[in-house]
Amino acid sequence: MDIVANINKIKSELPEGVKLVAVSKTKPNEDIMSAYNAGHKIFGENKVQDLVRKYEELPKDTEWHFIGHLQSNKVKYIAPFVYLIHAVDSFKLLKVINKEGMKNNRVINCLFQMHIAEEETKFGMSFGELTDILNADEFKELKFVKIEGLMGMATNTPDKNQVRKEFSYLKSCFDKLGADFFKGDTDFKYLSMGMSGDYKIAVEEGANIVRVGSLIFGARNYGR
Ligand SMILES: *Cc1c(COP(=O)(O)O)cnc(C)c1O
Repeated sequence: MDIVANINKIKSELPEGVKLVAVSKTKPNEDIMSAYNAGHKIFGENKVQDLVRKYEELPKDTEWHFIGHLQSNKVKYIAPFVYLIHAVDSFKLLKVINKEGMKNNRVINCLFQMHIAEEETKFGMSFGELTDILNADEFKELKFVKIEGLMGMATNTPDKNQVRKEFSYLKSCFDKLGADFFKGDTDFKYLSMGMSGDYKIAVEEGANIVRVGSLIFGARNYGR
């Protein structure tokens, strides 16, 4: 795997303004350092323990994104340094992140994860659940979280039209929430969608963060 060549190729093809999160989950520090030394410093992990270890071992100017399902009792471990939490999928979790942000005296940037896929196993909220949160008085009191946009994962299917429809739906939710709840708030700006298999469609449908792993680092081996 030529990690640097892979990253450079993807970056050269992404439109300006689209952020590439290199998903380094399960991959060793050497792989991350190859990308880092070539100038790419934005990485995504989906396990708290791995993220904390890599944060401790790797250079401190790395931008760490937490992209997986986050358990409330583990927020405290990443709260001091995480750059963006992509997958806030409940009000309860958001309140815990706020509490940990307060303890660390930092505002933690978050995206709401929406459920757009057919698979029930994927996490995320419906549009209605999101608007309920945004309308809640309690939400307005959370001073240590900042909602910067939405994240979603499309159905794992070869049907490109379905994937496109799901991304397009997420974009329409992003636009609607932006207009209804974040008018004039330039921090509500990120639409995180697209992985190795579907990031090009995601970008066409309006993604400005893509999360790409295996296309950069090679297939993951979970068996060991
Ligand atoms: C693993 C993962 C990715 C990257 O997947 P690839 O198919 O390897 O690009 C993106 N987003 C999330 C939430 C992931 O868990």
